[in-house]
Amino acid sequence: MAAGKPKLAMYWAASCGGCEIALANIHEALLEVDAHFDFMFCPCLLDTKRHHIEALEDGEIFLTFFNGALRTTENLEMAELLRRKSKLLIAFGSCAAHGGIPALANARGLQDVLETAFLKAPGLHNPDGIIPSPCTSVPDGELHLPAFLERVLPLAGAVEVDYTLPGCPPEPEQILAVVRHVASGAALPPRGALLGCTDRAVCDECGREKRGVLAERLLRPFQAIPEPGWCLLEQGFLCVGNATRGGCKALCPSVAMPCTGCYGALDPDGDPGAMTLAGMAAALAPGAPQGKDEAALHTRLREALSGVADPLGTFYRYSLADSVIQTPGDGGRP
Ligand code: SF4
Ligand code: SF4
Ligand code: SF4
Repeated sequence: MAAGKPKLAMYWAASCGGCEIALANIHEALLEVDAHFDFMFCPCLLDTKRHHIEALEDGEIFLTFFNGALRTTENLEMAELLRRKSKLLIAFGSCAAHGGIPALANARGLQDVLETAFLKAPGLHNPDGIIPSPCTSVPDGELHLPAFLERVLPLAGAVEVDYTLPGCPPEPEQILAVVRHVASGAALPPRGALLGCTDRAVCDECGREKRGVLAERLLRPFQAIPEPGWCLLEQGFLCVGNATRGGCKALCPSVAMPCTGCYGALDPDGDPGAMTLAGMAAALAPGAPQGKDEAALHTRLREALSGVADPLGTFYRYSLADSVIQTPGDGGRP
């Protein structure tokens, strides 16, 4: 490790590893990161251990990118440790920002999740029906594993977060822009700000033409090949770009895949799933008057929604842990 440079850390909690790949995708600009920072902690890439972090002074890490949701007691402990040791803590990616895909497990109780994963999932071979537990006795002593939290939490559900860099994963150029901004010593945006995104919708960045046509029915991506250049939603593909914060340059629609909302709700104070649903309703039945024709509107929306194979996973794909349909409680701590 180089000495004298501000320390940079990247940690993964309940994460798929895609956020680390996004960092690696800045390619040779990693040398630029190295020129400005002592990149000293990243379990995916470096062999620094937890006790090395514990030995640091509080606030000694200048910048920590924290990706992944909080699923286990270990995730929670690392969030608290890195909060203490970091001047700037950035919730990096959809999982850290809103719970992300791991938080879809919150739709079920913890026991149901464990039984599905270890007893019922197709392809399992678990004849003794063993579900991992935090403490297991073996002839040589006891084995310990982190316990699962009752509910998956976003990072801000456990510690104070300075900034959020949304995306699943964030785009490499936006990661680099954040690194460069911090390295330049320029003034930082107000605490709590979203980085690497705009306050406009993905639709505003999308090159696909809206023709004012209502989709007859909803289609899943494998059910048809979309016409180039024409709005996917108008063709019936469930693209949620009108309810999603921009900044990705409409990456998915540009390659004929509907936006699934990974940059989060356009209105940061709104409920992401409800906004996505409302955005879709507005696109499928625009300008329908309240009261008059309301029954017909309901029928149309019900018919359209019947084409959504997985409503919860569609409208709350990245945000269930951060939504109004979560019950308040003990913060997920065991
Ligand atoms: S935000 Fe996306 S890429 Fe990053 S850890 Fe979560 S699922 Fe993976
Ligand atoms: S709904 Fe999707 S495809 Fe249509 S303009 Fe918006 S982002 Fe593009
Ligand atoms: S188009 Fe939507 S899902 Fe795709 S990267 Fe952009 S915000 Fe995420």
